[in-house]
Amino acid sequence: MAPSLVLAGARVVLPSGVVDDGRVSVEGTRIVATAAESAEVVDVTGHWLVPGFVDIHNHGGGGASFSGTPEQILTAIRTHRLHGTTTLVASTVTDEMDLLVRQAGLLSELAEQGEIAGIHFEGPFISPCRKGAHSEELLRDPDPAEVRKLIDAARGRAKMVTLAAELPGGIDSVRLLAEHGVIAAIGHTDATYEQTVEAIEAGATVATHLFNAMPPLGHRAPGPVAALLEDERVTVELINDGVHLHPAALELAFHRAGASRVAFITDAMDAAGTGDGRYMLGPLEVEVSEGVARLVEGGSIAGSTLTQDRAFQRAVTVDKLSVEDAVAALSANPARLLGLFDRVGSLEPGKDADLLLLDADFALKGVMRRGAWVIPPQLA
Ligand SMILES: [Zn+2]
Repeated sequence: MAPSLVLAGARVVLPSGVVDDGRVSVEGTRIVATAAESAEVVDVTGHWLVPGFVDIHNHGGGGASFSGTPEQILTAIRTHRLHGTTTLVASTVTDEMDLLVRQAGLLSELAEQGEIAGIHFEGPFISPCRKGAHSEELLRDPDPAEVRKLIDAARGRAKMVTLAAELPGGIDSVRLLAEHGVIAAIGHTDATYEQTVEAIEAGATVATHLFNAMPPLGHRAPGPVAALLEDERVTVELINDGVHLHPAALELAFHRAGASRVAFITDAMDAAGTGDGRYMLGPLEVEVSEGVARLVEGGSIAGSTLTQDRAFQRAVTVDKLSVEDAVAALSANPARLLGLFDRVGSLEPGKDADLLLLDADFALKGVMRRGAWVIPPQLA
């Protein structure tokens, strides 16, 4: 029997704004306009209700990664669901092509089962100058035939490819991705401002973790940052963990792009939701100390240990963003970008009942995904 439930008394964040003493009704797996007479009413006064978060860039969590076995992948998914991510695109890292092809097949099966929303290939088509935590010897130019091989291996489940469009074959690869309905994301790039503009004209629509793994903003050489921020067609990913970006850089990006063009991502690796220690990021060893992940060799920042509940809490308490803007950056914008806004990304009748309950301090107190509690309401 499908559950029928009304969450009442909350401050509900709707697309039209915040409603005090609002209610959300759930019937089965969906949000409905009006619940059945017999519906159970749960009083959540003093809490916020926001749509479940959507992460478009995430490598793992709970000690497991999306480069691992099906069991490890499910552990990572579960970990992030417990932190409010109800829709997740699994990200790979640079590896041997045949390993990536194999992993694409595996991830596509989990996408078919509805566990993940698709696959993001970060690398191998990135710049050795801005490789971050990717193996230099495994990097390659974005030859459209090779790009094609990866998206074919994903059997329609490739959502995004991060590439350095200034490399040979880069612009043709961006065109190929756009033609196949796969997001071309500019990142791990050494491109100039002009080269980035060319990539956007060719169809690139996302900035992979803006500022990180690209030339900094210069007043005579504005580089990719300015090009990606100024174009209305581009969504910029930001890692809002207080480590990857100075709060002033985040504020600058947020205000330049506007609230509708920012996606807060985690770029999380295995250690998210666990603790300090040694981990693997693809083929590279990573040391996590006080929540900051760095390559053992060279010390590059290697993904984050961020979860989206923390990103949200930080956005409203430290960065002083409005709750509506923070919800847009964590739910609606990434959902729209993925073409999933008809199903997720806002609390509206007809959509999946993916919702989060937060207390007055924005701490996560309940997670519902498709009408089922992942974390039942923990009311004080
Ligand atoms: Zn990443």
